[in-house]
Amino acid sequence: MVPCFNEEAVLPSSAQTLDAILTQLMTEQQVTADSKILFVDDGSHDKTWDLIRQLQTTSDHFTGLQFSRNFGQEAALMAGLQTAAPYSDLTITIDADLQDNPFLIPNMVQQAADGFDVVYGVRNDRSSDTWFKRTTAERFYWLMNKLGVHLIPNHADFRLLSHRALSALLEYHENDPFLRGIVPQLGFASTKLYYKRRPRLAGQSKYSLKKMLKLALDGIFSFSIAPIRAVLWAGAAICVGAIAMFIWIVSQHLRGAVVTGWSSIMTSLWFLGGCQLIAISIIGEYVGRTFTQTKRRPRFIIQTDTYSHAFAAATTP
Ligand code: UDP
Ligand code: MG
Repeated sequence: MVPCFNEEAVLPSSAQTLDAILTQLMTEQQVTADSKILFVDDGSHDKTWDLIRQLQTTSDHFTGLQFSRNFGQEAALMAGLQTAAPYSDLTITIDADLQDNPFLIPNMVQQAADGFDVVYGVRNDRSSDTWFKRTTAERFYWLMNKLGVHLIPNHADFRLLSHRALSALLEYHENDPFLRGIVPQLGFASTKLYYKRRPRLAGQSKYSLKKMLKLALDGIFSFSIAPIRAVLWAGAAICVGAIAMFIWIVSQHLRGAVVTGWSSIMTSLWFLGGCQLIAISIIGEYVGRTFTQTKRRPRFIIQTDTYSHAFAAATTP
């Protein structure tokens, strides 16, 4: 399944490549004849949905979900997986721009046949990414590791899930799911396949800085309470510093020296004010997430679903 947001530039050629791979897998009977390619249109403003509808007239391999608006890639992935779950033995997720090597898919299917429930696609060469993307990704994986969150470095959302791994994944009812953090938590037998990340086929990255930041924050705050601990340690360190400064001031007084200090008062005032705001906002981040989770709002809204219709039509006598 393929999340798509304003992907009109790449969709026709991606669809063609994916269809050729699926057809070959069907011919070799590695997958069942009713297997589908499911495009999830994440509220695109361009011709993405029209193209998906058009593709459906050319082959019954193509199906689609259309969101009522843009909900984000993770929501699109969850929607696709949730919709596919009742009908599929295994699911593969891949980006629409085919930066992740689709020719690894037959190998993934083979690994599943060999008994692996989760097959991770892992980039061992990101030279096609920009310096900014590479460096921020590297720092992010480093930070998550420090926070004690188990992520597969350089694995994004190109992965295969068996039916039981998918069922386990759907038990996670998180409002802002961070799949690359959740999937390694599932357990089951897993393996990795490595590939060189290619440049985008066409179009621009759909990840604005704001979306990248949201994903990173979802990863950090959904998986770790280490930031709250960090606040505790920072508070303790500031207290130790304050005690040391108090001892120094008293000793200065005892020696008859006058401690002057508009600058030091102002500096510590602003510094401590800043520390307190940071601490409150870190705690607020967790409180806010609890607040949104308790409202149990839908993670996405599906406007059109031709995938389920295709299966319903096939089973109707
Ligand atoms: N995507 C999405 N919703 C969004 C942003 C992105 O469904 O709000 C899809 C996008 O169409 C693509 C995948 O997520 O299939 C990865 O996006 P992109 O290739 O732009 O990310 P990058 O490779 O630059 O990290
Ligand atoms: Mg991409």
